[in-house]
This record gives sequence, structure tokens and C-alpha cells, in this order.
Amino acid sequence: MRRISVEDERVRGIVLENGQCIAAPVVISNADVRQTALELVGRDHLPAGYLRQLRRLQPSISAFIAYLAVERSTLSPASHETFFFETTDHEAAYESALAGTPRWFTATVPTHVDPSLAPEDEHLLVLTTLLGADAGPWPERKQELTDALVDAAAARIPGLRDSLRFCEGASPRTMERYTRNESGAIYGFALTPAQVGPSRPAPTTPLRGLYLAGHWTQPGGGITGVITSGQHCARAILDAT
Ligand SMILES: Cc1cc2nc3c(=O)[nH]c(=O)nc-3n(C[C@H](O)[C@H](O)[C@H](O)COP(=O)(O)OP(=O)(O)OC[C@H]3O[C@@H](n4cnc5c(N)ncnc54)[C@H](O)[C@@H]3O)c2cc1C
Repeated sequence: MRRISVEDERVRGIVLENGQCIAAPVVISNADVRQTALELVGRDHLPAGYLRQLRRLQPSISAFIAYLAVERSTLSPASHETFFFETTDHEAAYESALAGTPRWFTATVPTHVDPSLAPEDEHLLVLTTLLGADAGPWPERKQELTDALVDAAAARIPGLRDSLRFCEGASPRTMERYTRNESGAIYGFALTPAQVGPSRPAPTTPLRGLYLAGHWTQPGGGITGVITSGQHCARAILDAT
């Protein structure tokens, strides 16, 4: 979508990248809230106070991922998702991840749930850790962090290195590129006590017909939060019509 059309102080529809206009009395955006306000709607159509509130909020941490394909026999006994922690001091681990040195990761095997995702003799293995968006430079650090994740997994999964058939890293910049979320934020605004629940943007906005859903909005990021935000948004629209 290129932009959200506004006329006479209310939403009139959207304009697609190819220039096609689609008229609609209501538009729901789950795209990055600040991009919705500043790029899709435009600052002239929203009150300065609303834009100021959006500016004050901080984006969440991002993530670094290594996507692997390995020989099936290597992971046959492994569970679908396992968390590995270097420390039980989660505050310290979070600060370390923000600063660019992950100290934990999850190992997920999607082919345990859906074997059709890979050839018969392979498993997919996704190694994920949280990471600050400023932990770069990218793409320069990508290989180093990919290797570190694979080494950490190989220390716990015998034979992993020898059975590797494919390996590709994804940095915070990759998250940003594919989701368009600012700084590759994986939970929208950071999930701090000052930024969850009513402190996040509401589903209603000062612009008539424009509604928000998704992890930048109330109540907070993550799958469950996003589902709840969709319910809040639907309720707000039904209440207004
Ligand atoms: C690697 C990773 C692991 C995660 N793990 C977990 C987990 O284990 N548990 C959990 O609860 N949560 C997890 N999360 C967080 C969770 O996935 C997100 O909070 C949630 O998916 C956000 O959903 P959303 O609909 O708000 O936004 P998104 O899923 O980001 O959807 C927004 C969509 O808008 C599109 N878009 C943006 N701008 C435009 C435009 N101009 N025109 C058209 N389309 C546009 C984007 O392409 C995107 O498809 C994870 C996230 C990531 C990235």
C-alpha cells in the first residue's frame, strides 16, 4: 500500500503501490504505527499531540536468526522447541542481547510438526535469539553471529556441524526489510511496564475511519497480544457503527 486516502478529515480508502484506489469508509492498519501516521496518512492529517505521543515510545528489541537444514538423523530425537540459557539471570541476558552479545537461544524444528517443509532426509532447524537493532554493523556482523549460534547449537547437538546442508543468517535489518517494522522491532513498541496496556496507542485514532491493530497497539506485542488487539479493534469499529 502506498498511502491511506484522507478527505474532509476522514479516511476515504487506500491507494496501492500500482496507483489503484480502493474506496473504504474504514481502514485498519497493522503496519508500523509511526509509518502509518507519518508515511501512509501524513502528519498534516493528525493532531500534533498525537504525533508527539507516538514519538515518545521506544521500539522493542529485534532478533537474530540462523536458518539451517540438517540431515534428518541428527535431530530425530529433538523436541519441536527447546530454550538454551547460558545464565538464569534474565535481566543480565536481556541487557547483553541489547548490547549485541546473545546469551541464550531457542532451537526450533518446524519439520517435527510439518515434515513436508523439507526433503524426506532433512530437518529444518531455526536458531533464534533476541538482539538489539544497533548490534551491527550489518551485514558485516551477520556471519560472525550466524557462526556463534551454530557453534552454540553444535555444542548441544552432537554431529550438527557435519550434517549441515544449508545455513543462512537473518539480522535485525533482515527483520526490518521483510516486516517493515522500524529497527526490525519484533514486538512493536518495547514491552516495558511504561509501554504496555493503555500506554500503547489505542485501536481508535483522532482521524475518523482510521483504526489500528497489531503489536504496536494495545495491549502489547507477541502473538496473543496481537490477537487481542484485533478483537479490541473489531469492538471499537462495531461500537462506532
Ligand atoms: C523472528 C520472530 C520471532 C518471534 N517469536 C515470537 C514468539 O515465539 N511468540 C510470540 O508471541 N511472538 C513472537 N514474535 C512476535 C510476533 O510475531 C509479532 O508481535 C506479531 O507477528 C506481529 O503481528 P502484527 O500483525 O502486529 O505485525 P506484522 O506481523 O509485522 O505484520 C505487519 C504487516 O504489514 C505489512 N506492511 C507494512 N507496511 C506496509 C505497507 N505500506 N503496505 C502493505 N503492507 C505493509 C508488513 O509487510 C507485514 O506483513 C516473533 C517475531 C519475530 C520477527
